[in-house]
Amino acid sequence: MTDYYGLTLKEVQKRREIYGYNEIRTNNKKKFLKQLKHIISEPIYLLLSFAAIIYFLLGEATDGIFMIAFVIFVIGIDVFQEIRTGNVLKKLKEISEPKIPVIREGKEIQLSGRELVPGDLMLITEGVKIPADGYIVRANGLCIDESILTGESTGIWKNAKKHIIHKDLLNYLNVNTEAESKEEYFKKDCCYAGTHVIVGTGIVCVEKTGKYTEYGKIAESILKVPEINTGLQIQMKKLAKQCTILAALLFLLVGFFTFLNLSEQELMERIIHSMMAGIVLALSMIPGEFPVILSVFLSMGAFRLAKKNALIRHLPSVETLGSVSVLCMDKTGTITHNKMQVSECFMNNPQIERFRKAIIFSCKEGTFDPVEKALIEYGESLYRQSTNQPEKVSICSIDKSNSILIKEYPFTNELKAMGQVWKEDGYYTIAAKGSPETILSQCYLTTDQDMEVKEQMNNFLKKGLRVIALADRIIPEGNHIPDNLSECKLHFRGIVGLSDPIRNEMKDIIKESYDAGIRIIMITGDHPETASFIAGKVGIRNSDKVITGEMLSRLTDLELKNIVKEYNIYARVLPLHKMKIVKALQENGEVVAMTGDGVNDSPAQKIADIGIAMGKHGSEVCREAADLILLDDNISTIISTVHDGRRIYQNIVKAIGYVLTIHIPIALISLVAPMLGIGSDSLMLLPLHIVLLELIMDPTCSIALERIPAEANTMKKPPRQPMESLFSKARLIKSIIQGLVIFIFSFSIYFSMLNLSYPPEIARTAGFSVLVLSNILLVIENSSEKENIVQAFKKISHDPGIWAVNIITLVGLVLCIYSPLHKTLGFYPLGLTSISLVIIFSILSVLWFEIVKLKYCRKTE
Ligand code: ADP
Ligand code: MG
Repeated sequence: MTDYYGLTLKEVQKRREIYGYNEIRTNNKKKFLKQLKHIISEPIYLLLSFAAIIYFLLGEATDGIFMIAFVIFVIGIDVFQEIRTGNVLKKLKEISEPKIPVIREGKEIQLSGRELVPGDLMLITEGVKIPADGYIVRANGLCIDESILTGESTGIWKNAKKHIIHKDLLNYLNVNTEAESKEEYFKKDCCYAGTHVIVGTGIVCVEKTGKYTEYGKIAESILKVPEINTGLQIQMKKLAKQCTILAALLFLLVGFFTFLNLSEQELMERIIHSMMAGIVLALSMIPGEFPVILSVFLSMGAFRLAKKNALIRHLPSVETLGSVSVLCMDKTGTITHNKMQVSECFMNNPQIERFRKAIIFSCKEGTFDPVEKALIEYGESLYRQSTNQPEKVSICSIDKSNSILIKEYPFTNELKAMGQVWKEDGYYTIAAKGSPETILSQCYLTTDQDMEVKEQMNNFLKKGLRVIALADRIIPEGNHIPDNLSECKLHFRGIVGLSDPIRNEMKDIIKESYDAGIRIIMITGDHPETASFIAGKVGIRNSDKVITGEMLSRLTDLELKNIVKEYNIYARVLPLHKMKIVKALQENGEVVAMTGDGVNDSPAQKIADIGIAMGKHGSEVCREAADLILLDDNISTIISTVHDGRRIYQNIVKAIGYVLTIHIPIALISLVAPMLGIGSDSLMLLPLHIVLLELIMDPTCSIALERIPAEANTMKKPPRQPMESLFSKARLIKSIIQGLVIFIFSFSIYFSMLNLSYPPEIARTAGFSVLVLSNILLVIENSSEKENIVQAFKKISHDPGIWAVNIITLVGLVLCIYSPLHKTLGFYPLGLTSISLVIIFSILSVLWFEIVKLKYCRKTE
C-alpha cells in the first residue's frame, strides 16, 4: 500500500466544501409536516375538533378550550411517538451503514461511504458495494455486477486504467475530468456507485460522489420504494375500518335517539345536542390507537434487537421472525467457525517440494479466505521442517520471487475450484486446488493410485474434514494457456484435510430451535460426508440422509417439494439450489429464515422470509439483501430474535385486545345513557372525558403494553401459523366479555347514584373512576394469558415504564377529581364511602377473569 498516498486531510476538507458529502439527500422538513398532516387527518382528531366547535356554539367556551388543549396534547403524544420511531429508524440506519477502507495520507482507514470525496483512494474486495464512481487504479481478478445500472446480470471483468503515474494521482484526476472519452458509457476501467464486487480486489480513485454519480442520477426513482403492507398491517387496517364504519352507523343512531328524546327543546338546540351525543359515541368507537400500535411496537422491537446487536433492516420482519418455522444454515462460518487448519495430508508419491509449490502457487497472496490461509500456513510449515528455517520468513515470497502471476482462474461455485498461472524463466506453472471431484477428474491417475487417493480421502471425510485436492502442470513458455480451469490437464499432487471447529453454542441453538418447533436445515457447498458428519455432531435430525446439488438438479418442482419435507442436509449445492430449496419450503407453507455470507447467497436470502447476514465476516451484498444482520456474528442471537418476534406478536395481540375491551364500555355508556333518557348535562361521558380516556389509553398501549415480557412457554411452542388471524374467535369473545363486565360495573355505579338522587357530577366521577382503575387492572390481568394476577404483576413489577404509566394515570385521576380542575371537568371530590365502592367495583370488574384462568389452567395441567 505504500506506493499510494491518497489525499491529505487538508485537501479532503477543501473538496468536501466543493462537493459536499457523498450522499443523496432527502428532505426531512417536508417529511415532518407530512407526518403532522397524517396524524391530524385521523378521523378521531377531526371529530374532536368538531366537538370543540360545538362547545363554542353552545356558549361553553371553557369546555371548548379545554377540549382543544387536550386534543393538542394527544396529538403531541402521537407526534412524539412518530419522532421517536423516526429517530430509532435513523439510528438503526446509521449502525447499518457500511464502511470502506480508504487510503489517506499514506494510511489505510475505515470510512463510511458518506465521507468520500473525489480523489480518495478506496480499496474494494469481494462482496463490497461500491459507494462512489471512480476509475480503477489497480485490479486483481476484479469482476463487478453492474446490473443495478445496466440490467446486465453477468459480471463485468474490470482492468486498471492504463498510463497512470501512481505518485501523481491527484494531477491525473484534474486532467481526466476535462477529457471525457467517447467510448462505451460504462467503462471497463471504471466502476460505479451502487454496483458490487463479485470477485477480486482493486484500488479505485473516486471521481464523482453523491448526486453526481450515475447512481445518484437515477436515485430519485429508486428511493421511492412503495410501502409494503404485511399481513399484519392489512389485518389491522381492516379492523380499524370496521370499527370506523360501526362508529359512523352508531353516530346516526344515537343522534337520532337524542333528537327524539329532546322533544321539548328548541330545534337548533336539539340538533346541536344530538350531534354532541353522536360525536361522543363515534369518538368512543374509533380505535385511534391502532396505527400507533404497529409502528411503535415494531420500531421499538427493532430498537431492542439492535441493543442485542441484531439489526433489523425491514421493520415488519420483527413480526415475521416470530413465525419462522424453518431455519436454513450454511455450514462453514455459521455452524463452524470458518477457521481452517490442515490436520491431515496425503501426498502423491512423496514429493514435498512439488506439493508445497502447488499449495503456494494456487493460493492468492494476502488472502482472507480461511481455506487459503490454512493452506499457506501449512505450506510454510512444510518448508520450515525441511530446511530448518526460522519463523517469520515469508516462504511465499521466496517461492514466488522469480515468478510473475499471469493469469487467474477465480473460484467458481460450479467448479468449486480455482487456480493461478505463473511465468518463470522459460515455462508456465498452472497450479490449481479445489474439490477432489473436480481436480481428480482433470488429473491422470493409474487405477491403483486412484484407489489409494480415494481411500485416503474417505478417511479424511469420515473425520468430518473438508478435503481439498492440489494439482499443477508445467508447460513451456509460449504454449497456449486454456481460458478455463476445467480445460486444463493437471498432475495430481496430493490432498489435504482441513478441520474447522464447530461453534460451542451450536448444539444448544439447535436444541432450542427444535424446542421452539423450528426445523433446522443445513445447506453447504462442502462434500456430503463432511456435511453429514458435522450435522450429526451438532444434533441436526436425519443427519445421515444427505442430498446433493447434482441430485436436486434432476428433480421436478413437485418432487423437490416432497424432498424438502424430508431431507435436512444439502451438500455440494450451488447458490441456484439454495434459492430452489427456499422456494420449495415456502410452497409447503413454511416461513423460512436463511443465513449466508457469500455474494452468491444473496438471491436466496432475498427470497427467504428472513434473510440473515453476518455483520463482520459476511459480504456487504449479503448484508444488503438481508432482513436481519447479526452485527457481532453471534448465531445464538437468532434464537433470541425469534423469541422477541414472538413476544412482540403476543403484545400486539394483547394491545389490540386491550383497545377493543376498553372501547366497549365507553361506547356502550355513550350509547345507553341517551337511550335511557338521561339529559345531556347529566351524561356520564362528555367529549372531554373521552379525550381524557384517550390520554390514558394512548400511553398504555404504546408504552406499557409494548413492554410486557413474553409468556412463559413462548419458546416451547411451535411457531404460529403465518395465516393465523390476528383476532381469533376466542380472543374476540374474551375482549367483548371483559369489556361488557367493565361496562356493567362502571355504568351501574353511575346509574344507581343518579337514581339515588346524587348530583350527576358525583355519579359521573364514580363511574369514570371505575373506568380508569379497571383500565390499570386490565393491563395487569391481561399481561399474562394463564398466570394469575399476582404472578403476572410480579413479572411486570420491575419494569419502570409500566410503573410510570400506571402511576401517572393514578395521579392524573386524583388531580382531576380533587384539584380545582374538577369544576371544569364536571367532576366532584368523592368521599371515603364512594371511593371504597369505586375500588371494589373496579376490582370486581376485572378480577372475575381469574376464575376463568384458574379453570383453564386446571384443564391444561
Ligand atoms: P460452504 O457452503 O460450506 O461455505 P464453499 O462453497 O465455501 O462451502 O466451498 C465448497 C467447496 O469448494 C469446498 O468443499 C472446497 O472443496 C472448495 N473450496 C472452498 N474454498 C476453496 C478455495 N479457497 N480454493 C479451492 N477450493 C475451495
Ligand atoms: Mg462458504
